[in-house]
Amino acid sequence: MSDATRTCAVCRRALDRDDALRIVLGPNGEPVVDFRRKLPGRGANVCWSRSCMEGVRERGSLARSMRAKVALPEGDWPLGDARRMVRRRQAELAGLAMRAGDLKSGGNVVDRLVKKGWPTALVLSSDAGETVAGDLEKQARGRELDLFRSLLGSEELGKALGRTGPRSVLALGSGPLARILTDELKRGSALM
Ligand SMILES: [Zn+2]
Repeated sequence: MSDATRTCAVCRRALDRDDALRIVLGPNGEPVVDFRRKLPGRGANVCWSRSCMEGVRERGSLARSMRAKVALPEGDWPLGDARRMVRRRQAELAGLAMRAGDLKSGGNVVDRLVKKGWPTALVLSSDAGETVAGDLEKQARGRELDLFRSLLGSEELGKALGRTGPRSVLALGSGPLARILTDELKRGSALM
């Protein structure tokens, strides 16, 4: 196998290195997620998807892939770790994108910008209600824009943007920070 391809420990599909979640075995047999892909030691790779991350907890797939005894951490590991990491990234990048003028928030503002053709993508908070979501879906469809659900709730988005109140609707521009945030939104969607 070349260095650039990996096999998912759960579904056995071939993976691109950058699409995979890498897990390495710590010194006491406890597996840890290696987000930076830099930790030494025996490793396994899993698809960046909710189903394969959940699948890690079943049928001893990790032990088989690592050819070692593996003591799985409690709870929803590794999915929970991956979600926390993406949430952090989404919050951080939303703040940076806003300061760069690459992200705007709030229903009325976004509405105006969509009419002007400014956004490259639209974003809903995880807790946006049906009415708000339906409205934004319609706008996205009309302009053929991507629409994402963030893993962050409206309070968390407001905080990430340095606002005093919640934010449940965002518009992304075409700058580099918006593009990186879009990648993290896609990675988040795969974990829903
Ligand atoms: Zn898989």
